Amino acid sequence: MPGNEFINESLSTPVLSRYDVVVVGGGASGLVAAVAAARSGARTAVIERSGCLGGTGTAGMVAQWIGFFNGPVRVVGGIGFELTERVRALGGSTGFRRYTLAEASSSPVTITNFPFNPEVLKIAADEITREAGVDVYLHSQVVRPLLGERRVEGVVIENASGRSALRAAMVVDASGDAAVAAASGVPFAGAEPELRHHRQPCTLVFRMSNVDVKTFRALPRETKRALAVEGVQQGRLFWESLSFCSTPGEKDAICLMSRIPGIDALDAGDLTRAEQTGRQQVKSVVDFLRERVPGFEASVLAGIAERVGVRETRRIVGRHTLTESDIVGGVRFADAVALGAGPMDLHEAGGTGIALWMPPAPFEIPLACLLPQEVGGLVVTGRAISATREANGGARHMGTAMCLGHAAGVYAALAAAAPAGREPAAEDVRRVLVEQNALVSSDAAVQLSEREAPIEALPA
Ligand SMILES: Cc1cc2nc3c(=O)[nH]c(=O)nc-3n(C[C@H](O)[C@H](O)[C@H](O)COP(=O)(O)OP(=O)(O)OC[C@H]3O[C@@H](n4cnc5c(N)ncnc54)[C@H](O)[C@@H]3O)c2cc1C
Repeated sequence: MPGNEFINESLSTPVLSRYDVVVVGGGASGLVAAVAAARSGARTAVIERSGCLGGTGTAGMVAQWIGFFNGPVRVVGGIGFELTERVRALGGSTGFRRYTLAEASSSPVTITNFPFNPEVLKIAADEITREAGVDVYLHSQVVRPLLGERRVEGVVIENASGRSALRAAMVVDASGDAAVAAASGVPFAGAEPELRHHRQPCTLVFRMSNVDVKTFRALPRETKRALAVEGVQQGRLFWESLSFCSTPGEKDAICLMSRIPGIDALDAGDLTRAEQTGRQQVKSVVDFLRERVPGFEASVLAGIAERVGVRETRRIVGRHTLTESDIVGGVRFADAVALGAGPMDLHEAGGTGIALWMPPAPFEIPLACLLPQEVGGLVVTGRAISATREANGGARHMGTAMCLGHAAGVYAALAAAAPAGREPAAEDVRRVLVEQNALVSSDAAVQLSEREAPIEALPA
């Protein structure tokens, strides 16, 4: 909470550079947006507060991409799919697999995931941005937008070199928190006072080495569930899950097992508490795994994510708000620019449960969900697009965030090249996306999947 005392500052901030497109946040969505904008001809920069690109997938250590497949249908093409191939080629993954999400919970769902080594994704992200000619600013925090007449015109950043401004024809807000949009007066949901401490819980991911993954995977589901329930009842585990993914070699477990409720991730004090509580939980879970869970007897804590994983903060209220009925009803949109696959995934705010289910078919996401109603110069992508809380539960996976990023990057590049004040037409954005191998309609995804090998044959 801010105090009652204020100081006044007078700042004179140098303008460092001028770009066509500045992408704020280099996570799943921002990384792809930056590459897409640069490949579409825009002089592009991406600003990231961490020391690496990849966001929740690297700094947050959430080392499996989901949202790529709905049943047998692949919905992610373009730069997102290209990243899977790059990570594979660098030895960071063995590819897509069949995976039971939250296997030890009461509502597991079998999906297709892409587990990867987050350290290799960091390298792949450096390479793909360098090849595309993106200017990357790491260890750099965007602290405010530059605002013109109802228009975002750049950002102010702070980093080891001090404070500076970057002017931009278009800004892509890929912060996950709608940080630029909120500071620019774009209306948003998700930060209502009554929701502040009732958001989905945060998770601090950690990595165990020297794990016998095969032994654990071979346990019957009932045994895993019994262990999870035992751990929760004893207060040693924090939700009914023993979820982890493993990098090639199957000797380690990247564990999504902590669960920190009551956190407002827009509050620095809460975020500090989340990290510290998360580390206490990690200590408890590690002891439980080593003592009680077959395959973990000789395991060692090898690492804790640089930052706690945040599932939910702000979502803009844009020109269309994606709803659960849009998703379940398979509503078609003339301005569809990205596809989601699910699963619908909403963690109980206070308890230990999770609502997890697959939508019946891939779903379309329209460009209108990325665009603020009255503020120009800005496109929002990733976790913060305009969606209801329930729809966001199905649209926030990294596969979907990458599709949205591809669309946001192309839109921003076209907008930057258009005459002042003219917005690109959705057909043009869709055309460029298709030229860049993106999948923008559910028909296109189904047609592609009919030509691909059946995913039922994938290893578990
Ligand atoms: C615990 C957890 C488990 C999850 N499990 C999965 C899973 O198994 N598979 C899956 O596909 N998805 C999973 N998700 C969802 C997914 O990781 C996120 O929803 C997704 O990463 C959203 O992408 P994004 O690009 O919007 O945000 P992020 O990937 O979080 O990227 C946002 C980036 O913006 C940067 N940033 C923010 N503000 C600023 C600023 N002011 N200046 C500079 N940089 C800034 C951040 O540092 C970050 O790198 C999980 C999420 C969590 C939290």
